Amino acid sequence: MGKVLMIGAGGVATVAAFKIVQNRDVFTEFMIASRRKEKCDALVKAIHDKGYKADIKTAQVDADDVEQLKSLFSDFKPELVINLALPYQDLTIMDACLACGCNYLDTANYEPKDEAHFEYSWQWAYKDRFEKAGLTAILGCGFDPGVSQAYTAYAAKHHFDEIHYLDIVDCNAGNHHKAFATNFNPEINIREITQKGLYYEDGKWIETEPLAVHQDLTYPNIGPRDSYLMHHEELESLVKNYPTIKRARFWMTFGKQYLTYLDCIQNLGMSRIDEIEYEAPLADGSGKTAKVKIVPLQFLKAVLPNPQDLGENYDGETSIGCRIRGIKDGKEQTYYIYNNCKHQDAYNETGMQGVSYTTGVPAMAGAMMFFKGLWRKPGVWNVEDFDPDPFLEVLNKQGLPWHEVFGGDLEL
Ligand code: NDP
Repeated sequence: MGKVLMIGAGGVATVAAFKIVQNRDVFTEFMIASRRKEKCDALVKAIHDKGYKADIKTAQVDADDVEQLKSLFSDFKPELVINLALPYQDLTIMDACLACGCNYLDTANYEPKDEAHFEYSWQWAYKDRFEKAGLTAILGCGFDPGVSQAYTAYAAKHHFDEIHYLDIVDCNAGNHHKAFATNFNPEINIREITQKGLYYEDGKWIETEPLAVHQDLTYPNIGPRDSYLMHHEELESLVKNYPTIKRARFWMTFGKQYLTYLDCIQNLGMSRIDEIEYEAPLADGSGKTAKVKIVPLQFLKAVLPNPQDLGENYDGETSIGCRIRGIKDGKEQTYYIYNNCKHQDAYNETGMQGVSYTTGVPAMAGAMMFFKGLWRKPGVWNVEDFDPDPFLEVLNKQGLPWHEVFGGDLEL
């Protein structure tokens, strides 16, 4: 029934691949393609070593190159392409999907390499073309973005007549026992958190200095954690789709040590995303040097721990949810919907830590919704544009159960 091609073989892709092979009734043919074929083959081996006998094809592709993508898509003929490479490749993969008649799903909005800028306009601009081609594109189907929007849609459908205040709260209370590491691709992660904060209030977007606004929030089974207001892409579509929202914000926890390192990285210029000239030794062993261009943040990524290797010693858990205030039947209602995910449980199942797990599972679940015909409509869509019920039902069964709290103090 479902012929799927996944691009990328990193942390999130590894989790999605495990989940795809656990659901072979839906995903009947599966190919993994990435920049390095050996990484795809290693992932297939890891899956086989865990006892899954799935037949998985692998291929090499540079997803920055539309022609290479088109040739791969024409060859394998996937019905759906799951993009778990980097946000830089969103548009090239969407172009190739349009050219070859493939549907599309990703977990992060497009970012130009030379500008850390987070907005959906570039991908929303593809809406007409996907619509005319009769193809579905599902944007941002990880946890946040992704499940955070399904939670909001579920709240709007079942528990509120009007949503007024929305706070998405993301806590990682895990410990990987490294001095400094990021939980997903370091380059993408550091670009994101060093940006100015942004939130929505009374019809306007309000900018804050990076990580300048913070307060303690109490997370279930974890306790209070300092939580920082950040810009996050799903706010953009949520305030558009739920116009009764008066204020929408996104909060993420960071430990003191992490922030101290981040400060140093920035002060040393290592978070820069522009090219600098570096005098590098020639590979011919002559001892001579030549000027090469490097991007400091990309160099930093090369020396930081790989998020894929953090799982083994990671303890603690994540807690991500939506705290919502609004009106139901003329009365004020408060509501909190969340999932907690233990890093060790994620590691035992997939070899990856909880942040990759909480992203990879929803990516598979969104793809499952597509193949079951439940999330299939021509155009370019965000997660809250679809029925949240079957998606949340799948998350309950696939390792990300969610909980609801009615009433009570939302702290925000
Ligand atoms: P990784 O860096 O671990 O994996 C990215 C993969 O894409 C790697 O296998 C990489 O290859 C491959 N890749 C990179 N460039 C290309 C290219 N040009 N052509 C082909 N393949 C390429 O990242 P993560 O797994 O941590 O993250 C994957 C995505 O998930 C990112 O877009 C990230 O922003 C998103 N994300 C979303 C979250 C959410 O909740 N919505 C949360 C966390 C992440 P190689 O291995 O050779 O480097």
